[in-house]
Amino acid sequence: MKTRAFVTGGSRGIGAAIALRLAQAGHPIILNFRSNQAAAEEVRARIEALGVEVTLCPFDVADADASAAAMNTLLEDGKGPIGIVVNNAGIARDNSFPVMKQDEWETVTRTTLDGFYNVTRPLLMPMVRQRFGRIVNIASYSGVAGNRGQVNYSAAKAGLIGATKALALEVARRNITVNAVAPGLIETEMIQDAPIDKILERVPMRRLGRPEEVAALVAFLASEEAGYITGQVLGINGGLG
Ligand code: NDP
Repeated sequence: MKTRAFVTGGSRGIGAAIALRLAQAGHPIILNFRSNQAAAEEVRARIEALGVEVTLCPFDVADADASAAAMNTLLEDGKGPIGIVVNNAGIARDNSFPVMKQDEWETVTRTTLDGFYNVTRPLLMPMVRQRFGRIVNIASYSGVAGNRGQVNYSAAKAGLIGATKALALEVARRNITVNAVAPGLIETEMIQDAPIDKILERVPMRRLGRPEEVAALVAFLASEEAGYITGQVLGINGGLG
């Protein structure tokens, strides 16, 4: 049987596309989300229609206690190893920095950075014992280049890139790869209020990316074939840079 894949923020957008793509590759899916049960049920139905097992696993990745409890349950459910983790859950709370509220800073940085820690760390020793792991972190072009109005989001995503590179070094000899994907503007609910026409003027391809395009890249990085790629940040942004 193929290894199980754990996808955070898998009820909508990029995470849902990643879960479906990994299911198409035959991986049983553990689908995390925060609260949108209806959206998660839709993804569950689409995965089950492929004949692939899916477990819904709702919790807030920024909440250390809730994450620890959920990860313990997963690791002891006897359904086999979890060899793939995709840290995709993320939110944006944009504001110009002088008026950025403490809550906007903390919600964004905690979801991305504490989320990475809370989910990935418990899965690591089992991966070391299996001598197999694929960790893919969804960062952002904003974390590579910076973006005005997103000091919180850029900081969180840049932090995630740093964590990716450091962890890749720690586990390289264990056949565990750790990579980051840095999407540009992808067509999901997250960007529904963004000034899309204005932003597209800066995108050489003059179009938004599709969640399925990000999912294809993630699925490759999660595959056995990608075993010599680690510590990398792969841009997927229509040529932004
Ligand atoms: P969406 O807003 O469409 O979906 C976000 C997903 O994350 C939902 O499934 C949501 O669950 C889940 N989520 C949010 N917060 C938490 C949390 N604390 N715990 C668990 N799950 C949570 O976002 P996108 O698909 O656009 O974004 C996915 C990732 O890609 C994010 O990390 C984002 O930063 C990144 N990204 C997106 C870009 C874009 O242009 N769209 C560009 C670059 C990076 P629920 O449904 O329950 O709310």
